[in-house]
Amino acid sequence: MPPKKSVLLLPGDGIGPEIVAEARKILTWLVDQGYASLTMPEALIGGAAYDQTGNPLPEETLTQAKQADAVLLGAVGGPKWEPLPIAVRPEKGLLGIRKALDLYCNLRPARLFSQLVEASTLKREVVEGTDIMVVRELSSGIYFGQPRGVETLANGEKRGVNTLVYTTHEIERIARAAFKIAAGRRKKLCSVDKANVLESTELWREVVIKVGREFPEVALSHMYVDNAAMQLIRNPRQFDVIVTTNMFGDILSDEASMLTGSIGMLPSASLGERYALYEPIHGSAPDIAGQGVANPLATLLSVAMMFRHSLGLPHLGERLEAAVDHVLEQGLRTPDIAQPGSQTVGTVAMGDAVLAALSDSLS
Ligand code: NAD
Repeated sequence: MPPKKSVLLLPGDGIGPEIVAEARKILTWLVDQGYASLTMPEALIGGAAYDQTGNPLPEETLTQAKQADAVLLGAVGGPKWEPLPIAVRPEKGLLGIRKALDLYCNLRPARLFSQLVEASTLKREVVEGTDIMVVRELSSGIYFGQPRGVETLANGEKRGVNTLVYTTHEIERIARAAFKIAAGRRKKLCSVDKANVLESTELWREVVIKVGREFPEVALSHMYVDNAAMQLIRNPRQFDVIVTTNMFGDILSDEASMLTGSIGMLPSASLGERYALYEPIHGSAPDIAGQGVANPLATLLSVAMMFRHSLGLPHLGERLEAAVDHVLEQGLRTPDIAQPGSQTVGTVAMGDAVLAALSDSLS
């Protein structure tokens, strides 16, 4: 039995507690059966944390996150907290924890499950076989650059400013992470920038090329972000791994997610030198919260990534992904991915089905 690890659960808001409960169910079963040695403390984040402490990211949560081997987050936010000042909104808790843990490398796989090909808004012949890993820089760029803010000019007009800033070191480390991932996949890396217009991404391209010399086995290409947005829809199969800046990655990874049909299917990992956080890419879905219909599969696939990248149990990650494949093959669907002829189930039943498939494959 590998040494005991700890996974901090941060359910958050909206559907967060419902989907994290399914992850907890599976993790608890694996522990009870002796397949993993884990503790699973829980802490507050987002609106839930604000309501109890006045802070969307309490110090206590951050301390627990730094003590854990991995963090699993549900989602944060909702209309209830929208009137609050930005500094204490739930989303600030999420940006805050990513920054505090220095999670600079965001992995967002967009893999089309063959059973869900009809759920995509794009034609089968375009999306079939899509399997892309978007590597997004997460802790710098325009979301964090200074100066920022809105000022009132002498003539009374307002002026809003954000700054796109990258240092050599920040680009080197994300590029290196992306090359390593590409080396373990189909060995193709496309770096997306806007080097024809933005100096900071001209530097991005220069540094990516330099880091690429360490990885001669990986074929490196470059694409401007506007073209990349188009190519993703035109011919997604041309991509293996994409590496890009924080904001471009935010937008392109959401676009890539739509290739696969449902946002409820897509996991993510945010990695740093010391810490790691796993979460589904979707938000707190306030429109369906509390109804027991949220799709828990993105969260369970995030747990699979956690087994692989943080817990040293890659075989459990593979089994869990195979269990998700299996329930889709059986025709079980939450409403967001329902198809004619499929059996519609709720969050808990979907979690139970994945657990049953996992249990069968391990026993
Ligand atoms: P959202 O991802 O919450 O929802 C978009 C649509 O997808 C909704 O119709 C929702 O019902 C559906 N959906 C999302 N996840 C689903 C799931 N697991 N199963 C079934 N359907 C699902 O995005 P939004 O509506 O733009 O944002 C809602 C709130 O979430 C906002 O407060 C926003 O700031 C926050 N948000 C949080 C995160 C995060 O915590 N990482 C990410 C994005 C948005």
